[in-house]
Parts: sequence; C-alpha cells; structure tokens
Amino acid sequence: MLIDAHCHLDLADFDSDRDDVFQRARQVGVRHFVVPGTTRARWPKVLALGEREDVSIALGLHPYFIEEHSDEDMQALEDALQAYPQLVAVGECGIDARLSDTLEQQWTLFDAQLRLAKRYDLPVIIHCVQANDKVAKRLRQLQLPRGGMVHGFAGSPEQAHAFNALGFAVGLGGY
Ligand SMILES: [Zn+2]
Repeated sequence: MLIDAHCHLDLADFDSDRDDVFQRARQVGVRHFVVPGTTRARWPKVLALGEREDVSIALGLHPYFIEEHSDEDMQALEDALQAYPQLVAVGECGIDARLSDTLEQQWTLFDAQLRLAKRYDLPVIIHCVQANDKVAKRLRQLQLPRGGMVHGFAGSPEQAHAFNALGFAVGLGGY
C-alpha cells in the first residue's frame, strides 16, 4: 500500500475535482493520505477532510504564511490538539530561509510548535528549505520523542542521515 505522506488536498485548488484526485490516486495504488494544515483559517477544511477514513490530518502554522498568523494562533493550536485526538502530528511548520525577511518570526513560531509536539508526544511535519543544519541542530537540542518528517528535502546525504538519526524521514523535494 502506498501512502501520500504530504498532500495539501484541503487547498481551494482542489475544490472543483477533489474526489477525482482521490479516485485517480487510488487507481495507482495510493490508499492513504496525510494532509497537514497551514493556517488557522484553513484548519476547518483540514478537519473536514480528516473525517474520511483514508485521510490522516495534522494542524500547524506554515512559515510561508507568516503574515496570516496571529499571536492567538499558538493557543488555538494547543486547544485543537486537546479537542481533536485524531490529529496525528503537529504541522506543517518549519523554516524557509528563502523568506529571509521573516526568519526571526519563523523561528519563534517553529520553536513554539516543536515544544507543543514534545508536550503532546506527537510527530512533527517539517517544511525545511535551505536550513537543514540549523533545523537539525534545534531538533537535536529538543529531543523530540516522536520524530516526524522533513518534507521538500533537498540537502546532502549527510544532512539526510542527520535527520534520520533524529527519527525523521525525509521527503525529497525540489527546492
Ligand atoms: Zn506542505
């Protein structure tokens, strides 16, 4: 059985043909889908998708959308972790060093989400672009109990092994 471990099927891009997308994926052997949340405003659609038996969901605050996140969103994320035991991870969260203007805010938000994952004993779904060594260092410091997945990985074999040693699978991406 194949599992798509990272797909944003909640996005509006799929509103017109979401069922067809699921159907086509099933036809080629993909039987399960992990959909991570990206902004608080989009979490309800992720939660709705999570009602499907073939979808597992996570909620998080993605570094792309730093302007959309507010101070209350971290508390909302913690509330959601308590309210929805079906959440399988914290994420998507992480660091995208291409967005250099917001790096400091990205780290604050990422760090808070890593701590939440540790407190709730959950894996983390990490977006990590051009920040592999720094992110691995932070993960090493925090000693997360459940590991997780680094998606969109485009680093060296050594960097991939470093994530593996910390309990993280890497999804190869094209950044
Ligand atoms: Zn993603």
